[in-house]
Amino acid sequence: MKFAKTFQKVLSEETLPPEWVDKAIQYKALKKIINKTVTELESVGVSRDEMTIDYEISKLQRRMRPVLRMNVSPLAESLIKGKLDSLGYKYNIKPLQTQETEDLDEVLEETDELQNERLVSSLHSDSGTINNDDVTPNKSESTLSSQTSAPPSMVKDSSVYKEPALPTIIHEIDDDESFLDQASVQTSIVASVADYLSTPLAREPTSVSVSSLMTALNPFDDKPFYEITVSLHEDAKFFQTLYEEIEALNDFSDERENEIMQWVEKIASIVAHASSPDVKKNDLYVWRQIFQIYIDSQIFFSTIERSAGANSNAVSRIRYGKFLEKIEEEQLVTRFKQKESLAGFMEFKELNESILKVANFQTMNIMAISKILKKFDKRTHFKSKQMFPELIQRSEQLNILQNSMGRDLCTIMTNRLLNIVPQVEDYTCPICCSVAYKPIRLNCGHLFCVRCLVKLQRKGEDRCPLCRQDVVMKADEGNLDVSLMEYLKLYFPKEVKIKQAENEKEIFKEQFGSVVDPDAKACVIV
Ligand SMILES: [Zn+2]
Ligand SMILES: [Zn+2]
Repeated sequence: MKFAKTFQKVLSEETLPPEWVDKAIQYKALKKIINKTVTELESVGVSRDEMTIDYEISKLQRRMRPVLRMNVSPLAESLIKGKLDSLGYKYNIKPLQTQETEDLDEVLEETDELQNERLVSSLHSDSGTINNDDVTPNKSESTLSSQTSAPPSMVKDSSVYKEPALPTIIHEIDDDESFLDQASVQTSIVASVADYLSTPLAREPTSVSVSSLMTALNPFDDKPFYEITVSLHEDAKFFQTLYEEIEALNDFSDERENEIMQWVEKIASIVAHASSPDVKKNDLYVWRQIFQIYIDSQIFFSTIERSAGANSNAVSRIRYGKFLEKIEEEQLVTRFKQKESLAGFMEFKELNESILKVANFQTMNIMAISKILKKFDKRTHFKSKQMFPELIQRSEQLNILQNSMGRDLCTIMTNRLLNIVPQVEDYTCPICCSVAYKPIRLNCGHLFCVRCLVKLQRKGEDRCPLCRQDVVMKADEGNLDVSLMEYLKLYFPKEVKIKQAENEKEIFKEQFGSVVDPDAKACVIV
């Protein structure tokens, strides 16, 4: 299926809010602008076979500015110029620079008499004539500054220009909005050649140089001689439209992220109330189990090393489905005792579905951006995708789950909910792996249950099993973490009860173990 169709299908099938659909990349409209760009390129005579083309895109403030530079032969130059004029484009034409003219520029820049003498002697060396390339007109600072003293109109009247006038290709652009700077616009072949030829000490070879200049401008010579710089309309429209759509989508992502954060807060307060130990018949254990399953499902992010990182949308969807199945299996929702818990769970479901939708919507947009740029490049033969990486970078930030903020978002969400409904894993004794009740905090800061600590002391093991510091034998009643003990009793009443029963059994066994145990077995047998 063609991408345009797939894109349209996803947008309509996802039951997305209409304001989202409005913000989606206008793929079809952009495709139309590409067609218009191709037509425009043809209408001004841009042809890849006949010229070297350089394409650049820059951005000034919030305006995208594509610039097309063509190196063309004199014949192509006059054809394109005619087309550009008739279509009313702003453009600039300047003769191409060559290595030799750059050398000449350096010489011309030096103005004192001695330097001029050196110039003449170098010009007269060997054959005594000037090489064609040496007089290739060219823009330089010296020619620009001398324009005021010898404007082209005055030069035309001088003896040098009795012959047919050279093509004047000044194209004045008085508009400030033009992307071209005034200096380059005002550069003219006449000015630069005239400037060179009117240098008093260089007059002698005049006749030779003008005729050789005329051969250089032979209109049937197909070597590139001019550089035409022009800013077209349709490609500018294409990039401007795309840029604005990407920016709007970035704002959209930010809005969704804020919305999700507020949503998490809302759910958090519902869950906090419904599972508060102060509330009779609270749903603490049901919510804990739901969040435990939720975390284990790793819906949006995987923490398993092999595939750590953000999940693809497809994986997220599958895992979310499995999460719901598990909740169903355990019949957790039917076990809610508080009315608000059910409402809270529906909100929680909606929130997750919304995150999935945003992620899918933005992934489709990122694809659309990539595809449309590829299409533009394919149709125009430009390399805009490489040339303006900012568009791609900005588009990659669109996926709230792939960008760094999305990661923070999920961490904040999970932590916020976990704080309300703490998980027993965070409060287990590292030795016996059950809840660390009663909790003894050693001087090194590590936490163990009182039973395991007593056993360590009996063995005379002084080192903390986690950090190897000599702190075990120093521990006494003062190391009991009383506030944590109260917290564990509140939030893990079932686990604490089981642990207490086990502890009592163990203590009893220690005291009467040899007597009771065989009897107990005997009882079972009897
Ligand atoms: Zn323990
Ligand atoms: Zn320790």
